[in-house]
Amino acid sequence: MSHDVKRLLREHGVHVTAQRLAVMRVVSDRPHCTADDVAEGVRVQIGAISRQAVYDTLRLLVEKGLIRRIQPAHSPARYEDRVGDNHHHLICRSCGSTVDVDCAVGEAPCLTPAIDAGYEVDEAEVIYWGTCPACLRSNVNSKDD
Ligand SMILES: [Zn+2]
Ligand SMILES: [Zn+2]
Ligand SMILES: [Zn+2]
Repeated sequence: MSHDVKRLLREHGVHVTAQRLAVMRVVSDRPHCTADDVAEGVRVQIGAISRQAVYDTLRLLVEKGLIRRIQPAHSPARYEDRVGDNHHHLICRSCGSTVDVDCAVGEAPCLTPAIDAGYEVDEAEVIYWGTCPACLRSNVNSKDD
């Protein structure tokens, strides 16, 4: 497993370091994690890491196409290692839980603007906001009280 991660880093032109390996492991174990989650997970694996080092590593891995950054409105960025497809996300407004959903179309951009104003459009950023099943259930329960 860690062998594959090392190879993956090299294939993307990223010099292998203990910090980068640890960040990659956390992101693949905890899809849609925040930078804080990553910092916590990396500390468990290799001891101390500065917040800045976490951010720098995440930025590098995103730039190199190894991980994807999702930036939902009004909440911290999330990271995942599912890259190279055009999948979207369902996010719960109450608890923030995030789930992958395949794109109905498949390739980007899967939505076409009514007017493109001469732009060459290559992506439509789609996030489905709503309430997750667990929050729906607890809403129903609290109404019963
Ligand atoms: Zn929820
Ligand atoms: Zn995802
Ligand atoms: Zn789509």
